[in-house]
Amino acid sequence: MRSITVLGATGSIGQNTLDVIRQHPQRFQVFALTAMSQVEPLAQLCLEFKPQVAVVGSAEAAKQLQALLQGQTIEILYGPEALSQVSSASEVELVMAAIVGAAGLAPTLAAVDAGKTVLLANKEALVVSGQLFIEHARNSGAQILPVDSEHNAIFQCLPESAQQQVGSMQLAEHGVNNILLTGSGGPFRELPVEQLARQTPEAACNHPNWSMGRKISVDSATMLNKGLEYIEARWLFNCSPEQLKIVIHPQSVIHSMVQYTDGSVLAQMGQPDMRTPIAHTLGFPQRLSSGVEPLDFSKVSELNFSQPDAKRYPCLQLAIDCCWEGQSATTSLNAANEVAVAAFLNQQIGFTQIAEVCDQVLQRSATQPVSSINELMELDNNARQLAAQVVRTVANV
Ligand code: NAD
Ligand code: MG
Repeated sequence: MRSITVLGATGSIGQNTLDVIRQHPQRFQVFALTAMSQVEPLAQLCLEFKPQVAVVGSAEAAKQLQALLQGQTIEILYGPEALSQVSSASEVELVMAAIVGAAGLAPTLAAVDAGKTVLLANKEALVVSGQLFIEHARNSGAQILPVDSEHNAIFQCLPESAQQQVGSMQLAEHGVNNILLTGSGGPFRELPVEQLARQTPEAACNHPNWSMGRKISVDSATMLNKGLEYIEARWLFNCSPEQLKIVIHPQSVIHSMVQYTDGSVLAQMGQPDMRTPIAHTLGFPQRLSSGVEPLDFSKVSELNFSQPDAKRYPCLQLAIDCCWEGQSATTSLNAANEVAVAAFLNQQIGFTQIAEVCDQVLQRSATQPVSSINELMELDNNARQLAAQVVRTVANV
């Protein structure tokens, strides 16, 4: 039996994780489940999976959960400290890091520092703290297994010798020329660019292939998601700018590829269903059934590829530039984007203003060296305040 904490259990990744665990009751024992404010769904999951601990975001939510779980022997905690506690507890072997946004960084790092096997869905953690995150993992010996479908695909296409060196592998030593990060282009890939400005949150969240949380769905529509993934790939696979490329592939059948020096290209394929990469990380190095339908090649009529259009996806280029500019730039970009996406989802700003907010915040944030998590958190906080100001000005136009 392997013991697991699921951070962000009520979210899209959290629920998919529990769906795979549900299929393997002999293999996994749930130690802790966490959620921010969705008390009722969390209570349902607690009744089914009987964790030792449940964590919510506030004292109020904890009280509500207590009432729903009367008679159960589940310890109920709340707040950020409690998240780090359940991800570093000695009883735990695996931690699924599936909180959305920079809020996931502290508990994910706590798991890393405690040497856990970290199933990393929370890409923002790596975008915000890159080098430091990788250094923490190296120091503690924590194993990082990428859950994000593209990074999971790349990981699967790398040789075992490289898989054992997440964060520090030298790609060329393993015969790798390039990593090809694929992306569908999102729901607005074919929309006339002039119509982007008037797209609603509902339209942006209506992804053609994947069903995901609202924040990442908007990120997919702006393709900043691919930008965050580019930064994520840079750290996980220790890439140089020449070794990392983005390819648009609308069908989402190929989840990413690795191009080798002898001309071979390895691709991982499958249905666009997160239970596949989740099951891969839960079972690694063994394979587990996931409940995902096998890919039926008689139904895959074509596979198309193209280059992303910079005019349609300005956020993507911002992210690529930030990636090579330095840590402070990616931390600020992530924070600005979280504020801008929340403002878009609240209908305070339009779709194309997400890129404007990110751009203005970056222009006003000087790049600087960062050497500690506290400095990163301060930078994150400053960028959020700046982004909130910019949101107010663009919203008034
Ligand atoms: P979601 O919005 O569906 O779920 C987020 C979870 O985090 C919920 O359980 C929520 O209660 C919790 N949460 C939110 N804010 C919190 C806070 N401040 N403190 C503590 N908990 C908080 O998000 P999701 O789509 O499941 O995505 C989770 C992460 O996985 C994101 O980083 C996303 O980029 C990444 N990811 C998601 C997918 C996908 O298919 N959904 C694919 C790849 C990567
Ligand atoms: Mg992805």
